[in-house]
Amino acid sequence: MTTEEIWKTVLSEMEMSLSKASFITWFKDTKIISKENGQIVISVPNGFVKEWIQNKFNRRIFQCLKQMDNEIREINYVVGNPFIKTPDSRTLTREIQFEQIQETASDSDTDPKTNLNKKYTLDSFVVGPNNELAYAASLAVLKDLGRVYNPLFIYGGVGLGKTHLLQGVANKILDGSDKKIIYMPAEKMVTEIIEGMKNKSVEDVKIRYAQKDVLIVDDIQFLAAKESTQEIFFATFNNLYNRNKQIILSSDRPPKALSAIEERLKSRFEGGMIADIGVPAYETRLAILKTKMKNKPVNLPDEILEYIATHIQKNIRELEGALNRIIAVVDLTGREPSLKEVEKLLKAYVQASYKKTSAQTIVKVVCEFYGITINELLKKSRKTFLVKPRQVAMYLLREDTKASFPDIGSRLGGKDHSTVIHAYRKIIDEVDNNENMKQEITLIRERIYNKI
Ligand code: ADP
Ligand code: MG
Repeated sequence: MTTEEIWKTVLSEMEMSLSKASFITWFKDTKIISKENGQIVISVPNGFVKEWIQNKFNRRIFQCLKQMDNEIREINYVVGNPFIKTPDSRTLTREIQFEQIQETASDSDTDPKTNLNKKYTLDSFVVGPNNELAYAASLAVLKDLGRVYNPLFIYGGVGLGKTHLLQGVANKILDGSDKKIIYMPAEKMVTEIIEGMKNKSVEDVKIRYAQKDVLIVDDIQFLAAKESTQEIFFATFNNLYNRNKQIILSSDRPPKALSAIEERLKSRFEGGMIADIGVPAYETRLAILKTKMKNKPVNLPDEILEYIATHIQKNIRELEGALNRIIAVVDLTGREPSLKEVEKLLKAYVQASYKKTSAQTIVKVVCEFYGITINELLKKSRKTFLVKPRQVAMYLLREDTKASFPDIGSRLGGKDHSTVIHAYRKIIDEVDNNENMKQEITLIRERIYNKI
């Protein structure tokens, strides 16, 4: 691999994991300058970009480089290279800068001790037909912890309010009772368990979980893949459950579709109450926007909020993103935008995400769904946990983009076209004959098209 190819690979990995706007802002006009003695030098267009890449993406870049070349030890970013022109659509950068700063601000609102963000309360959670079952079940659970629905399992697509609801419940318990509670994103729990196993302190970790009255684990789909972690989670689950301690879980899909999770755990998850959160209707979207406006430093007329609620439909995080974008503009310009200007701003927003829905989105969503990296998908390995996602990606690329078999093969790491045809036929067959597979494909498609 030439140094250029190495950097290209890093870029494509980053591109997959970022929104189009972020990727362009931070990585356009970056270049690899040299690779010597384990040291890589990357040229970036300005100091601002340098700082962002260093703070936000350095770790991921490093991991990616390391996978290609184990000798790499250090990355240096240098500003300015006479051969590349500095990008400067200043307003765009400022806008995105604003958005990113907001994102960072909300991250840092999370209390590292409790993993909770105080802004996620039940009071600020807008209830509508899409989430009322999940909300009502949460209230019922709160009234009589451990006795009504155990576990409570809430599932739904990205950005639809699972974390908000779970943290709302957790905050309520913390405020209103002396119950001992632990809230964790599953990813964090996995890290903690793995570290515990390394340091031989996993028994302490287990004891700490077992001492709680309430265990809340967010995004349980990330528990996947590691058997030993599931083992410990299973033991913890049973221990708490048998003593009527409350367990609340969230996931991006129903228990049945958690393909990387052991059967015995899945059937535990199904033993309590399962409630889904769907896409909110217009009225709910508008109500959410109005609730969010309460904490904003500026006012927007109803017609603008109505416009946003009409045009952003699938994901509440994006709904908020659109709102924040408009607010950023009001803040920067010091005046209210006209409806025409709002239209323009949101058009760019909607189109940017539309363009992404292509082969790239399919590959990305499939990888996310099965909890593997894009590199793993592209590898030649025949491990079962990789073969299936690869075949599903081939199937979806064929069905939904009508790409040719050879094209699909070369996009997926240089596979032969006959391999693609085989995969395609196999998944067609499975979709017809296997209910789980059918459901998985539906869920993956839902996500792909939610991204439009
Ligand atoms: P998920 O965990 O399902 O991906 P989040 O809980 O992170 O989604 O929600 C994304 C954003 O949308 C958050 O800022 C959250 O406050 C907001 N949100 C989602 N649902 C609601 C709701 N019903 N009422 C108010 N805000 C909501
Ligand atoms: Mg979440």
